[in-house]
Amino acid sequence: MRALVIAAALLAAAPAVAATEAAGSLDGVSIVDRLDVNTLPTGVTMRFWFRAGSTPVGQPWLVPVIVIKGAQPGPRLLLTAGIHGDELNGIAVIHRLAATIDSAKLSGTLTMVPGLNPPGLLQSSRQWTPDWSRSAPNLNRELPGREGGSAIADFAGRLWSRLLRPNADTAVDLHTQSRGTAYMMYVFASTPRTRRMAELVAPDIIKMDKGDKGTVENTLTDDGVPAITLELGRPEVFDDTMIARAESGLANLMRDLKMLPGKVTPPPAGVYVANDIVAARATRPGWARLLLPIGSAVKKDQPIADVRDAFGALVETVRSPADGRINMIATDPRIDTGGTVARIVWWSPDPACANGC
Ligand SMILES: [Zn+2]
Repeated sequence: MRALVIAAALLAAAPAVAATEAAGSLDGVSIVDRLDVNTLPTGVTMRFWFRAGSTPVGQPWLVPVIVIKGAQPGPRLLLTAGIHGDELNGIAVIHRLAATIDSAKLSGTLTMVPGLNPPGLLQSSRQWTPDWSRSAPNLNRELPGREGGSAIADFAGRLWSRLLRPNADTAVDLHTQSRGTAYMMYVFASTPRTRRMAELVAPDIIKMDKGDKGTVENTLTDDGVPAITLELGRPEVFDDTMIARAESGLANLMRDLKMLPGKVTPPPAGVYVANDIVAARATRPGWARLLLPIGSAVKKDQPIADVRDAFGALVETVRSPADGRINMIATDPRIDTGGTVARIVWWSPDPACANGC
């Protein structure tokens, strides 16, 4: 009796067993309500539409998924892109990997989602913007969501529990900066393990960062799945240089995970690692012109941007608030009072800041 009780308790404590739930097809591509890559055949590349609930007018939210199931067993790597609908480079990175990775040479499973936020992508918006929503919330603050909750909670809950979490041992969420701004190739990591992942991807800058509640990166990492956020430059474009660098860095990460054959390239020496960030802000509105390119090393009080009025007269010179590196710039010169012209990252020696201040 006691053994039975323990067995029942163990069963109750075990995570729900996922299974792929087919729900028809569209132009020959299977629609699924739940995906479990463990149930798929090995040595093949498959495409799915994941149905993440329905709109009020009866049409489903369909999210594209590409699964490359290796011929050999191994870890499950999840790559996601487009949770912010104006951040596009990651979609092209996934398309490239889908075209170049041979399932016969792959160990483990690569699950890729090139477009997590269909309404945001349709409207080139960072937010989750179905047209009945007036609040336009940020989908990358909503995980793990809740099925049966608000529209966005339900959407996020289906993504989390039926697609993302069941298929990830390790994950990379691909972003860019938002409209009117640009990043370098830049990774957020929150633990020593994810810092190592970041180094393998070989970005320009790594920011140790405790992160925000509800992101893909932090929700997975907090649930035991090491995850990083990979930022790839500017929004609303396919930038070939960034796309090629990300493809190469992710292949290196997969070699380190023993998913792909070949030698791991050691992390480059020139990666700038930071754990704190501060904005350089204009105190007057006007037209800002940057004096230094993104990536520049700066000293505290060094001029970063001039701000001019409508007639071209200089009204302010914005100076760096810290010693560090410019990791983000405003590409739109229209600056409001308090507007950010650049952000500066640096390394704080405070031991409490080792994984982000
Ligand atoms: Zn983003």
